[in-house]
Amino acid sequence: MTTPKVIIRACRDYDVQKIRRIVREGLEELDLRPKGRALVKPNVVASGDLFPHAYTRPEFVEGVLHALKDRDDGMTELAVGERCGITVPTRYSFKGANYYEMFDRVRGVKAYHFEEVPQVEIPLYHPGRLRNSFFTPEPVAKADFFVNCPKFKAHPWTTVTFSMKNYIGIQDDRHRLIDHDHQLNAKVSDLQYITQPRFIAIDGIIAGEGRMLTPTPFDLGLIIMGNNQAAFDAVCCHIIGLDPKDVEHIALASERGFGPIDLDRIELSGDVTLEEAQSRAEGFRKGLIRVEDYFADTAIRAYGGRPPSETHAYCWGGCPGALEEAIELLRVFDKRTDEKMPPLHIVFGNYDGVIDAKPDEKVVFIGDCAEFNGNIADRPVQIRSQYVDRSQKNPLEAKNDDIFKKMASVGANMWKNRNEQVIRLGGCPVSVAEQVLTLVHLGGLDNPYFDPNLSVDFTSCYLSSKTRTALKRLAGQRYHQTGPTERGRSRPEQNLPPAGAATPLEIS
Ligand code: SF4
Repeated sequence: MTTPKVIIRACRDYDVQKIRRIVREGLEELDLRPKGRALVKPNVVASGDLFPHAYTRPEFVEGVLHALKDRDDGMTELAVGERCGITVPTRYSFKGANYYEMFDRVRGVKAYHFEEVPQVEIPLYHPGRLRNSFFTPEPVAKADFFVNCPKFKAHPWTTVTFSMKNYIGIQDDRHRLIDHDHQLNAKVSDLQYITQPRFIAIDGIIAGEGRMLTPTPFDLGLIIMGNNQAAFDAVCCHIIGLDPKDVEHIALASERGFGPIDLDRIELSGDVTLEEAQSRAEGFRKGLIRVEDYFADTAIRAYGGRPPSETHAYCWGGCPGALEEAIELLRVFDKRTDEKMPPLHIVFGNYDGVIDAKPDEKVVFIGDCAEFNGNIADRPVQIRSQYVDRSQKNPLEAKNDDIFKKMASVGANMWKNRNEQVIRLGGCPVSVAEQVLTLVHLGGLDNPYFDPNLSVDFTSCYLSSKTRTALKRLAGQRYHQTGPTERGRSRPEQNLPPAGAATPLEIS
């Protein structure tokens, strides 16, 4: 078995040629040359001036693309693909990240907006899987040389988002939302069976600490590269003083054979030692803060009840974390968010404690699994769970509402219940967007989707995305491609973790 290698290099600024040289040297050291269809997957969950530290910077991707060209060994396609944060058109995120200008500069780069392409079914066979198949965008299933280019960030639901967690963007909205709950870590681990990257390069030049959409910039000055996803994420964890065994999706993927997380089974190289990298990362704030603590000093009182799970006492991958991201997003658009917010009680899961609300304070139960039987302001209240077990969810029937439908449904719910003290918001999960819209209504806040600086571009990208997708359907392109496909995985033996720790899975 080849020992996986992780290379830690110093890079203090977003100089394209410097990044190109460092990444080219990384490819050389790992003896990698792209051929066939090369696909780069950055993290562009959100972008633009309002989210400057949420995404893999264009200079970084530009350097990586040039380096791949420098090492070209018969590439038939060089592409960049992503599905950004749900409800937002990927075109809008690419535009905000200045990716299109960058593609023009590099030349010959194809852009894939994953929600606009056919989704290929990948059957799963491994024990302990959450379901029997996944859908993934066709360019991912067909990639011969998959390159993972995440951003080095903290994450409220999974503690960190490095290489493995970046796979959440290889699913479109309707499939991404399935199992995006207390089983999110297991889902991320299952996603590893779709494909493994030949090469990983993380943008750790300015890392993002504390949060995922609106992280605080952290001057880390590192480019980290590798050829095995588990080993790579383990080293990133060690850099910020985190034991990779404590990050569920990383530990689970390693147990399943995707690579080692013990440092003595990983070869380290580069011009920065692990100790030097650790000293640069000192004080880096990770994610994973319970919702009660997150809102402790605000007008919002949050109550985190138990999700419908034997193994998880808190829904780390679902509604509570989405509320944390929602409030941060609102703070970006409306500086007076906290000042305007009235006292509000927000309840998740099966909660059997006291809800200390006065008669004029709204109480919102968020999520299908919300359950309560007790008194609120001296009145008896019973909220029954509407949760549908995951085994009943069929990916082929999965639906997702776009942002305009969400605005209409949240608006209608708020209007219908305007005089009620207790409001219920259904869904599993209830997305960041829906929670943003709910807080906008309840707090009288500025609606980010109507921000004059953004709405023109947003609507134009939305219409462009919808029109192109509709035209492809009219031309006969099927959205779901089920069953064995030319290059999608179709045999159980193909669904095994790599035999050699540094050997990527083959899609043939
Ligand atoms: S409804 Fe929300 S809190 Fe409940 S299991 Fe689903 S994602 Fe988790």
